[in-house]
Amino acid sequence: MNQVSDRLNNLAPSATLAMSQKSNELKAQGIDVINLSVGETDFFTPDSIKAAGKRAIDENYSFYSPVPGYMSLRQAIARKLKRENGLDYKPEQVICSNGAKQSVCNAILCMVNPGDEVIIPAPYWVSYEQMVILAEGKCVIVKTGLEQNFKMTASQLEEAITPRTKALILCSPSNPTGGVYSKAELKALVDVLVKHPQVMVISDEIYEHINYVGSHESIAQFPEIKDRVAIINGVSKAYAMTGYRLGFLAGPDWLVKACNKLQGQYTSGPCSIAQKAAEEAFDGDQTPVVEMGKAFARRRDLVMQLIREIPGLECNEPEGAFYVFPRCSSYFGKTAPDGSTIGGSLDLALYLLNEAHVACVAGVAFGDDDYVRMSYATSEDNLREAFRRVGEALAKLK
Ligand code: PMP
Ligand code: GLU
Repeated sequence: MNQVSDRLNNLAPSATLAMSQKSNELKAQGIDVINLSVGETDFFTPDSIKAAGKRAIDENYSFYSPVPGYMSLRQAIARKLKRENGLDYKPEQVICSNGAKQSVCNAILCMVNPGDEVIIPAPYWVSYEQMVILAEGKCVIVKTGLEQNFKMTASQLEEAITPRTKALILCSPSNPTGGVYSKAELKALVDVLVKHPQVMVISDEIYEHINYVGSHESIAQFPEIKDRVAIINGVSKAYAMTGYRLGFLAGPDWLVKACNKLQGQYTSGPCSIAQKAAEEAFDGDQTPVVEMGKAFARRRDLVMQLIREIPGLECNEPEGAFYVFPRCSSYFGKTAPDGSTIGGSLDLALYLLNEAHVACVAGVAFGDDDYVRMSYATSEDNLREAFRRVGEALAKLK
């Protein structure tokens, strides 16, 4: 008997996590797979942050924390928003969750009524679309292409807005494309949004510190819409703390209160130890963040060079995050050595996994089937070997 609800049956599994799991299973069988699928840095958490976590255990931070997180952490986040982003938020306007993933989902579930429209520029991070589906909202996907560096223009936004539009989800720096919105590009979007006061913005800034083009620009900097913005951020990427599961939302009081109510019935406050470690991350020495950023910049340059050497792949130069999103549709319709045909990005990702033992994620999961996503959050040696194998495998397609 299978009693799975319609809600769950309508939900697609996470393609990023599924591919990563597949790659780990092959590794466990002794196959030398290079995993470029999951978006996770290969660095270790900086020592001072680890020490803060250990201290928290010794100091008996073992009780339930307040649902939105310890006040000391929310204060540290408010200081971070002021120091790094020039934004004024009271600690009461911040709620911490089990990763930025939960923060995004909280925001969506707290805003979206069945049938409400949510604008998502594509390519998008896999989970946005599914979270909107979970909330019974309607995704309005706005396709942006390589030619426009995958950034939504003001006129595309204007065209997508209807009286039923509830929110826009922006991700800058972007997963999967590496696109970074400039201040001027954000301002152009804001000029449209001011004409539509019912539209909220969920601004996912989790890759803030992995930025190769200068300063990070948050859409919340524009006073005309600040109270309609939910900033999403966390410690996973900048501080190499994916497993700690600590993210936050900063936004208007009503939204933070609503998230508090939802979270209070659902997960309670996030892990107490992770919270104390995160406090150190936000308040402590930021040198490791800068160093990791430099390593990603070197890897980005290397990967761009390696991709250019592979015929048939076409790629924008990422301005942030740690992914490349090459167009690979020139290989569609070709035949693999085993006689199978590459029909789309899913076939190509599986082919690369089986033939090259390189795991990447099919573009179709991000809303564009012409591409695949590869994470370069791994060593330069791994990257060289991975792209050598990819080039060799693609050359076998006839
Ligand atoms: N947003 C984006 C765009 C991401 O790539 C990720 C990566 N997992 C998240 C949010 C969630 O991050 P986490 O839950 O690890 O804080
Ligand atoms: N955000 C990362 C990715 O896109 C981690 C996996 C996930 O949470 O989906 O690969």
